[in-house]
Amino acid sequence: MRVSRLMLVTLREDPAEAEIPSHKLLLRAGYIRRLAPGIYAYLPLMWRVLRKVSQVVREEMDAAGALETLLPQLQPADLWRRSGRWAGYTAGEGIMFHLQDRQGRELGLGPTHEEVITTLAADLLRSYRQLPVNLYQIQTKFRDEIRPRFGLMRGREFIMKDAYSFHADEASLAEAYAAMDRAYRRIFARCGLRAVAVEADSGAIGGSASQEFMVTAEAGEDLILASPDGRYAANQERAVSLPTAARPLPGGLRRGGAGEPLATPGEATIEQLCAGHGLDPSQVVKVLLLLARFEDGAGQPLLVALRGDQQLNDVKLANAVSARLGAEHGALLDLSAITPELLAAQDLPQLPFGYLGPQLDDRLLAGGRSWARGFLRLVDPTAAELEAFVCGANQTDQHLVGASWSGLELQPDVVDLRAAQPGDRCCHDADQRLEATRGIEVGHIFQLGRKYSTAMEACFTTETGSSEPFWMGCYGIGVSRLAQAAVEQHHDANGICWPLAIAPFEVLVVPANAADAVQAELAEHLQARLEEAGVEVLLDDRPERAGLKFKDGDLLGIPWRVVVGRGAAEGRVELVERAGEGSLDLPADALVDHLLPRIRRQRRGLLED
Ligand code: ATP
Ligand code: MG
Repeated sequence: MRVSRLMLVTLREDPAEAEIPSHKLLLRAGYIRRLAPGIYAYLPLMWRVLRKVSQVVREEMDAAGALETLLPQLQPADLWRRSGRWAGYTAGEGIMFHLQDRQGRELGLGPTHEEVITTLAADLLRSYRQLPVNLYQIQTKFRDEIRPRFGLMRGREFIMKDAYSFHADEASLAEAYAAMDRAYRRIFARCGLRAVAVEADSGAIGGSASQEFMVTAEAGEDLILASPDGRYAANQERAVSLPTAARPLPGGLRRGGAGEPLATPGEATIEQLCAGHGLDPSQVVKVLLLLARFEDGAGQPLLVALRGDQQLNDVKLANAVSARLGAEHGALLDLSAITPELLAAQDLPQLPFGYLGPQLDDRLLAGGRSWARGFLRLVDPTAAELEAFVCGANQTDQHLVGASWSGLELQPDVVDLRAAQPGDRCCHDADQRLEATRGIEVGHIFQLGRKYSTAMEACFTTETGSSEPFWMGCYGIGVSRLAQAAVEQHHDANGICWPLAIAPFEVLVVPANAADAVQAELAEHLQARLEEAGVEVLLDDRPERAGLKFKDGDLLGIPWRVVVGRGAAEGRVELVERAGEGSLDLPADALVDHLLPRIRRQRRGLLED
C-alpha cells in the first residue's frame, strides 16, 4: 500500500473534541473521524487495526471451540418484554435505541443479544445431547450512552465480540467460563495489552459470577481496587474490604437506648457535627433518602443508613433494591436523591435534611401522591453493628446521642452498601491494604445461570427425560474499545506505538527524497521483497520533505521504519524501531533476514507460552 493512495490527513494540533491521549492520537493520525457524539467513521488504517483485533479474537474463540455466527441487530420488542428487560432498557436511563416500523411494531437496535440467542436456543437445542454450545459474533452494537466520550472508548455505535454458551448443568457452564477466561487472557496478550482480571458487578445483564478484564491506564473510567499480594482485585463497584474499627462513644454518652437529645444548631453536616461536639464520624449514623423508580411506575422511598465515615456504593444499593422489589415492580429504572422539590411535587411535608435519623416515621409519607407509603430501610453492616451512636433527631438543629437500634425500636435490614476505598484493609488478609489503579474495561465474562432461560422458557430435555431451562454464560469483548486502549497503553510524545500484532502495517518504508530515482527504486524493491516474505508494508511515496514524513511516521505508529536515504547509492538503508531507541544502518540486502525473525516474534504480542 502507498501513503499517497490512503486519503491520509494528519493534524499537527490536538483536536478540541479530544481529552485523552489515545483519542487525540487516533484523530491526529487520521485513523478515525467523528460524525456525531459517540459515532465515528473508521478510516482505512483503523479498519485494518480492527480487522486484526477481530482476527485474533476469532482465532482464539475458534480454538476454544466456539462457533462464529451473525445475529440480527434489529430486535423485536416482544423478545425483550419476555425477558423483562424492555422497560429497563428503553425508559429512564435505558440505553437501547428503539423505533417503530411502518406497521407500528416496536423494535430495538441491539445493545446486546441475550434475548435473540436465547430464543434461537429454545428453538434449536432440544436435547442434552446437543449441549454444550458456545456461539459468538463480531458485530456493531448500538447503545444510547448517557455520556458518550473518549472516542471509541464509549461510543454509541461500536464493535463488540459477544458470545453466549448453553449448558445442561452448572459444572459445564463453569468449564466454558474457565475456557473463556483462558481465551481472553491469550487475546489480550496477543494484542500486546497488559490486562488484569478483576471481580465485577453483574449489572443489568444479571447472573452470578462475573469477571472483567481491565487494561490499566490513567485514562480508564473504572477504578480497580487490588491487594499488593495479587490475591484480590475488584472493580470498585463490587469491591469489599474490612472497615476500620469504629471509635466507641465516650462512656458518659454510651447509653444504648433511644438516645438523649443534643442541641446541634447549624450542624447539618457530619464535619460540623463532629467538630462541634468532639465526635468521630464513625460514631455517627447518617441517613440518605433516595427514590427508586420502577418499570411499573412505582416510586419507592429508600432510607439508607451508613456509618458517618463511610460512603455509599450506588451499584450495591441498586442491586439490593432490585433484589427486594424487582419481582413486584419490574426493572429498577433509576435512583435519585429525595429533594425538597420532589417532596413538594408529592404534596408531602418538608423534612429536616441534615438532621435526619433512621427512626424517621413512615407516616410522613402518608399524604403522598404516588409514592409508596413506607420507606424501604437498608442499613450497612458498619452502621448496624454500632451499639450506641449519634444520629439526627428528625428535627432541625437536634441530634440524638447514645441511641441504639433496639432503643429506637428498629430492626435493620442489613446489606453491604459501603464503597470500599483505597487504603482499606483486605478481607483475605488484614495486613494487605487495597490499592487503586484506573482501568479500561475491555472484556467481561458472566455466568448468567438460568435467569434468561427461565424468563424466556428456553428448555431442553435432560438425560432422564425431564425438561429444564439451560444454564447460560455470556462473554463480551469491546473490539473497538480494545483497539483504542492499545493506543492508551502504547504511545509517546510523538505519536502511537502500535503493538505489531494489531498495527495497520508492520513496516513503513520511507524514501527520504522520493524525487531521487535511486532511492525510489530501492524503496519499491524493498517493499516487494518484504511483501514476498509475508510482511505488511506501507510505502510513503509522497513528494514531501523527509522531516514531515518522519513526523507522520511517528504519529502513525507503524512498528518498523526503513529509511531509504543517501546511503541508497551504496545499497545501505536505515532501520528504526518505533518503540525502540536509535537506528541501525545496514545493507539493503540484509534487511529481510534481519527483520523477519523479529517481526515473527512480535506477531505473538505478549504471549508467553
Ligand atoms: P461499561 O461498564 O464500560 O459501560 P458494560 O459493562 O456495559 O460496559 P458489556 O455489556 O459488558 O459492557 O459489554 C461488553 C464489552 O463491550 C465491554 O467489556 C466493553 O469493552 C465494550 N463496551 C461496552 N460499552 C461500550 C461502548 N459504549 N463503547 C465501546 N465499547 C463498549
Ligand atoms: Mg461490563
